Amino acid sequence: MAKVLIVEDEKAIVDLIAFNLKREGYEIQEAYDGQEGLEKAQAQDIDLVLLDVMLPYMDGFEVLRRLRQKSDVPVLMVTAREEERDKILGLETGADDYITKPFSTKELTARVKANIRRRLTDKGGGEGKKGRGGPFEVNYELRTASKDGQPLELSQREFDMLCYFLAAPGRVVTREELMEKVWGFEYYGDLRAVDVAIRRLREKLEDNPADPQYLITRRGAGYYFNKG
Ligand code: CA
Repeated sequence: MAKVLIVEDEKAIVDLIAFNLKREGYEIQEAYDGQEGLEKAQAQDIDLVLLDVMLPYMDGFEVLRRLRQKSDVPVLMVTAREEERDKILGLETGADDYITKPFSTKELTARVKANIRRRLTDKGGGEGKKGRGGPFEVNYELRTASKDGQPLELSQREFDMLCYFLAAPGRVVTREELMEKVWGFEYYGDLRAVDVAIRRLREKLEDNPADPQYLITRRGAGYYFNKG
């Protein structure tokens, strides 16, 4: 089930959006100011952020700017004024899409669906886009990876895992999340398969797999990528 984070300070609007998206089968998280929104967007496994521009403490543009330093989660900006819309269109804010208030719930639902679908088909990046982290670089289009410019021989799954880690350095990823996002299982299979895959991936990424420097274990929680 895809998870949508609604960042909006007006409770009535949050309730309305949440009601409509839940009816479509989405799981909803809520945040009522910019700071809380930023924290939740980074801390959890969110598939789409619905981000209002006018927020207390930190406006939506600032939330987005900070979020983009760490995450490429799709962001649908909600604007109330023409000048906000112009700012989204005119600047490289990193928003994936925007919608203008007042909007119909039907239109909103359609946009949410489209942006989540786009993310799933992209799986980690756009055509020809490259991702980087530490000494690693991946090319999403060619599905190739390198370390310090030297090509890495990765399986399809190892490549997907590396992309997943590079997308959010420092964020601890649970084995359940990896299983769901990389293996694509809705239910949880044998989680030891994840540990085995991590061990193999380390043998390809690490200088010393016994003392990993990039793919780090957070005991009892999962794994995270350290870009050094
Ligand atoms: Ca607002």
